[in-house]
Amino acid sequence: MPRLAVAMFSHEGNSFSPIATRRADFEAAVWCAGDAAAFAGTPTEMGGVLAFGEARPDWEISFLRLAQATPGGPIEPALFEVVVDEIVAGLAGQGFDAVYLALHGAMMVEGRDLADLDLIGRVRAAIGPDALLGVSFDLHANLDPAIASLVTVASGYKTHPHVDQRETALRVLDLLARTAAGEIRPVGAIVKAGAILPSIEMRTDAGPMAEIEAEAAAMIGGAILEAVPFGGFAYADTAAAGAGAMVFTDDDPALARAAAERLCAAIDARRDRFFTALPTASEAVAQALACRERPVALVDAGDNPLSGGIADTPELLRALLAGARQVPSLLLYHCDPALVEAAGRTGCGGRIAGTLGGTRSAAFGEPVPFVARVVALASGRFAARPPFICGPWMDFGQLALLRIEDSAVHVVVSTAIASPHDPGLLDALALDLDSFDLVCIKAKNHFRAAYAGRFKQIIACDAPGPAALDIARFDFRRAPAHLYPLHAGAG
Ligand SMILES: [Zn+2]
Repeated sequence: MPRLAVAMFSHEGNSFSPIATRRADFEAAVWCAGDAAAFAGTPTEMGGVLAFGEARPDWEISFLRLAQATPGGPIEPALFEVVVDEIVAGLAGQGFDAVYLALHGAMMVEGRDLADLDLIGRVRAAIGPDALLGVSFDLHANLDPAIASLVTVASGYKTHPHVDQRETALRVLDLLARTAAGEIRPVGAIVKAGAILPSIEMRTDAGPMAEIEAEAAAMIGGAILEAVPFGGFAYADTAAAGAGAMVFTDDDPALARAAAERLCAAIDARRDRFFTALPTASEAVAQALACRERPVALVDAGDNPLSGGIADTPELLRALLAGARQVPSLLLYHCDPALVEAAGRTGCGGRIAGTLGGTRSAAFGEPVPFVARVVALASGRFAARPPFICGPWMDFGQLALLRIEDSAVHVVVSTAIASPHDPGLLDALALDLDSFDLVCIKAKNHFRAAYAGRFKQIIACDAPGPAALDIARFDFRRAPAHLYPLHAGAG
């Protein structure tokens, strides 16, 4: 009976976030070991592993550490060591035939440039050269080419929003099983493209990424076992920054390299279509007010928690209060634990004053003063709902719903950062989407998976934030200087 060990250490690191990622951030998302029962039936990698286990009872599966956090600033170095040490200790000398790692591929660790490469290298050293090692990555991975020679086989998400996490794990496990059976001998190549790409135009339903994904899909067959383009994560400033492609073939290294180069050429040929000019927050509010049909979504991509946003940048709220104060509006959301606690002390119906935004960092705008009524208080922890999920549950901590005085503007405030893509956030506060004309959401693309068809129009704006779209304005220090747009000025 082949023995498979499974571990997950998944994090998308934003070099420009002012908030480090700590153990509590993993504990709020995914932090378990020994089993993956919480993932049963979910569209996640671990859901895929459980499905593989049911389909292949001839394989014995052991779950080591499973850890995933909402994207954020770099992981504290000591935490990285603890998790990697634990995974390596669980593998060394255990005689596993195969290992499956669920990674993101854009992990950032303070003081360490290539954390995913280091992690994979330590796992390979622990299991020896002959054990099989399969890895899955996010579509936004920034992969170092050296990873290709450390793994047996690997794959990545091919959809954005990422609704194929389960299928991605199943592809890796299927390739591992075929390798274990002696049917194939995978060899791979990772090649980097020539650009750091923002992800606002990286959806796979249409547009440049859809075309690149179609080209990759058409490659698969014959000796090509797997072909994966990676859009990359723009805000992880490492030597492996930038888009790229990964191809595995059946024992044909030259073909793997040539095919990966072809995919990178397909990315580079479409480069400029990923760079889109978006309205400012004020312009976006004006555009929304001109829409006849409501509700309209106003998307604050620069503070999207799934790109390392901090749910704290103030400019969209400021623009909303200045331009649409009497329009029924909902802002999802600001993270401000002290404000939620104050709202709790005040109680529903009470009056509260203070500031919103600019509390975690002053770099993205001055705080917005307000006076408000507390409308509702609720727990922000609930079971995550497909189609796009980050783990079995969502955890915003505690929630408060405020209505800004003398206005029709409502603001959700939380004690913890999570992504507002899941409509469970509305349900937690008994909010009806259709009672608002404007819904401001700190998000980018993933919320479209659950909200498809719910908005008459979606308007993205580019307000200052740790994931703002004009990436050439960030102070990159480690990314290769030849990458577009770093050498080209504003993108
Ligand atoms: Zn992603």
